[in-house]
Amino acid sequence: MNADLHCHSSHSDGVLSPAALAARAAANGVELWALTDHDNLDGLAEARSHASSLGLAFVDGVEISVTWQGSTVHVVGLGIDPGHGPLQAGLRSVRSGRDLRALRMAEALELLGVRDAYANAMRHAGNPSLVGRSHFARVLVEQGYAGDVSAVFRDYLVRGRPGYVEHQWTALAQAVAWILDAGGVAVIAHPGRYRISGDQLRLLFGEFRAAGGEAIEVVSGSHGDSEVRTFSRLARDFGFYASRASDFHAPDESPIDLGRSAPLPDGVEPVWQAPALRHQLRCAV
Ligand code: AMP
Ligand code: MN
Ligand code: MN
Ligand code: MN
Repeated sequence: MNADLHCHSSHSDGVLSPAALAARAAANGVELWALTDHDNLDGLAEARSHASSLGLAFVDGVEISVTWQGSTVHVVGLGIDPGHGPLQAGLRSVRSGRDLRALRMAEALELLGVRDAYANAMRHAGNPSLVGRSHFARVLVEQGYAGDVSAVFRDYLVRGRPGYVEHQWTALAQAVAWILDAGGVAVIAHPGRYRISGDQLRLLFGEFRAAGGEAIEVVSGSHGDSEVRTFSRLARDFGFYASRASDFHAPDESPIDLGRSAPLPDGVEPVWQAPALRHQLRCAV
């Protein structure tokens, strides 16, 4: 099954509209698609309606920003009900700190010489309440601070670099609770990206499972072959379903296009077999 269960539109830090993503997913042979914008649900109605015209099975998603033991962790919710009030209110609270954080990032970047950092980042932000590091990264590329966004992140926008601003997101158990309440399946996004020890990762997975989390991304745009092996083993150890995702953001930026990730390895249970998703997908056809 060519499933792609994590990507971004211009409602967060992707550059394509939900309609353009649906068309691109279909053209790339995706058979099961989820849009998972950061901390908001605004693109889901458009994504669902275009997926449906293209005959593409679609799952409503979101990627929630979490702070766990001082590190940022992303939790994807799949199959959530976009009309669920507590989830909407929760995401509003997660988003509420972004603007002040952006002003502080702009201040730090302007000290380095970046011109009109805040206004320029806002020019890139399709959704002003979702302004984030990717929008600043695009500004720094435009102004010649680095050759591409991944170099900007490495040199400016991660902890220990001059443009990084600490931020407190929501708690792990809270994000999982919003997802479960809204009828979804909670998935740890790109576990290979967190700069934490193996012991801490196991602790994270244990807390996530205790909170009701059911899956991890085994295949992700940020995983190489060795991470795919590591996380398929850990998925089996912890009894997690496995998700497959590109985490596609933009044609010129993302290492993996929609639907072009490696297949899930044998021996893991695909997340679309989780009862909550199986039920929704059965009802959709
Ligand atoms: P924010 O939620 O504003 O902190 O931004 C997080 C986003 O920054 C992620 O969802 C990615 O899109 C992007 N990002 C984080 N680290 C990197 C990286 N090393 N290279 C490219 N993009 C990154
Ligand atoms: Mn992103
Ligand atoms: Mn993420
Ligand atoms: Mn993402």
